[in-house]
Amino acid sequence: MTAKTVVALDGPAGSGKSTIARHLSQRLQFEYLDSGAIYRTLTYFGLQYLGATCQGREEEIADWFSRNPDQMKITYVDHTQLMWLKGKDISQHIRSPEVTREVRFVSDSPACREIVNQKMRDLADRYEVVIDGRDIGTKVFPQTRYKFYLDAKPEIRATRRAKEMNIPLQGDAFNRLYKDLLERDASDMARKIAPLCQAEDAHLIDTSDLTIDEVVEKISTHLN
Ligand code: C5P
Repeated sequence: MTAKTVVALDGPAGSGKSTIARHLSQRLQFEYLDSGAIYRTLTYFGLQYLGATCQGREEEIADWFSRNPDQMKITYVDHTQLMWLKGKDISQHIRSPEVTREVRFVSDSPACREIVNQKMRDLADRYEVVIDGRDIGTKVFPQTRYKFYLDAKPEIRATRRAKEMNIPLQGDAFNRLYKDLLERDASDMARKIAPLCQAEDAHLIDTSDLTIDEVVEKISTHLN
């Protein structure tokens, strides 16, 4: 089989990866694969079926998914990714604050990372894809020629997240979100395996002062 194209978009939370990946995949007529959503699905499973925290349950989570590979499904509607677990659409549930807080345990686990990576490789065997994540260009598809690292100032990233979640841009809720975002950056960057970092051959794009169209245009220019 001819190798399919993988466009890797890595970067911290709120850097614009998912929005850009969606627009870019539409333009290229590729599928968009949100790798964070797969980590979130494993986390949701842990919280739903194993206990109040995923900490210490990582091996059990990985084991269940390796024994039941068909229970997690990914489908697309107009280039939007839907996540299914045990026949249920859980795409909204995986965005909850509990899942966001707990996902770090799952993403620190080598066994869980292997489950997620295998799912991504299976999809990339079948489709041309734009994939967003933390380690796509460095670890999962290091051989791809198309790597981009998106970044933005922390206060801008926090503001984007707050707007998505309808949180006022001042006050306790915003301060908590900002703190959580910085903690997640630190934990993603300090992870022993597959930490968040820019691949040497990735193009760095600071999205702080750019519109969506401008970022998509920049990436398309590199791809051309
Ligand atoms: O992108 P999103 O915020 O949904 O990702 C959730 C979490 O999943 C990240 O904070 C990170 O811990 C983990 N993740 C990862 N590697 C990826 C994608 C996401 O470790 N490729």
